[in-house]
Amino acid sequence: MFFRPDRRRFLRTTGGALAASTLGLTGCAERRVYTDVDKAALVAQRQEEARRAGKGPFGVQRFQGYRGLAELPWYELAANGSLRLADDSVPSSIDFHCHLGMSLLLAPKMDLARPSDRVRHLLDCDENDPGCPLDLDIYINGNFTPEQVDTLPTVTITQGLWGNAIVDTHTIPNLLREMDSVRVTNSVLLPIVFDLPFGDDVEGDWREGIEATDTADRLWLGTSVHPGDRRGPEKLEQAAARGARVVKLHPTMQAFHPDDDSAMQLYEAAERLGLVIFFHGGRAGVEPESRQEYALPRHYEAAVANFPNVPFVMGHGGARDAKGMLDLAVHYDNVWLGIHGQGVTWLDEMIRRTGGERLLFGTDWPWYHLAATQAKVLIVTRDPGRAEIRHAILRGNAERLLALSS
Ligand SMILES: [Zn+2]
Repeated sequence: MFFRPDRRRFLRTTGGALAASTLGLTGCAERRVYTDVDKAALVAQRQEEARRAGKGPFGVQRFQGYRGLAELPWYELAANGSLRLADDSVPSSIDFHCHLGMSLLLAPKMDLARPSDRVRHLLDCDENDPGCPLDLDIYINGNFTPEQVDTLPTVTITQGLWGNAIVDTHTIPNLLREMDSVRVTNSVLLPIVFDLPFGDDVEGDWREGIEATDTADRLWLGTSVHPGDRRGPEKLEQAAARGARVVKLHPTMQAFHPDDDSAMQLYEAAERLGLVIFFHGGRAGVEPESRQEYALPRHYEAAVANFPNVPFVMGHGGARDAKGMLDLAVHYDNVWLGIHGQGVTWLDEMIRRTGGERLLFGTDWPWYHLAATQAKVLIVTRDPGRAEIRHAILRGNAERLLALSS
């Protein structure tokens, strides 16, 4: 148990799961330094991943485009050439990490209700035939070419750079079609508050889209606030009253530390309101270096330690800081891991160390096809002895989490 005599002075816990990685630096100021050791860990993770890809327990898992996943036993190509899940024994899924297109800055408002022929995912792997190389045994953003990464902006300027032609396909009917094709029954939509000078209301836009298409039964809209917003707790209360269950917080995009005092007020509100906190977890490796330090696993520990009654989901399983985040999840039973992004070898490790408990299927659509992550779950749980774990990851854990937090 953690002693909480005074909520205004939160524990900056040390001696917990990540004590070793704090390198004995316990002062607040020191912990916020982005050290050479931190930077080297990111470089080493990439090198290790390149060295090990295809050499894990599942061998080489490389495909040509999302359509190429039809080579796997569970999928096939439909008459129109699109990928579909063909194996009825696969449990239907709940996608805990999904987005729609965003209209930001001065861009014209996009029409979220408009279908189009083909989804242009941000990793547009089916654009050409054969499709782009898709390796399921590396962190997923490693499938972008270096040139693509160079132009990979933060999502705040996505639309300006990629233009409407791509983002305009990230609509509700297009998402539903893809959900149907791989039997995803429900998706938790995670908006984000950027705090842009002209104001942004991603959540409001998505809500309008859901209302216009009458799809609230399948698309569960989360909420987001900025930790710097003094009205944050009040806004969470309003969102909860509207039915939101999950709060998306993004340390690198919103430029805050998860253990900032300003964020603690949000966790207090979440505890009171029975909300789930969904973090972007860990360094993806493609964000500006100046923002990377915010997402180091050691900054998440005080949040989860101070609020044992709040479920915290670490998105992307901690991305390229997966090891630190897995340690946290093993140590704190209010930590859940979104599995999106991790390769099959690491996903297997996550299952080994957690027993599959508190792992959540999520796709980060429209960055990637829904099947890119679903296929990994199917590969890693192919052994009949893992049937229950397959169900838990694809569906059961999400149901349990949402019941738990209600
Ligand atoms: Zn995401």
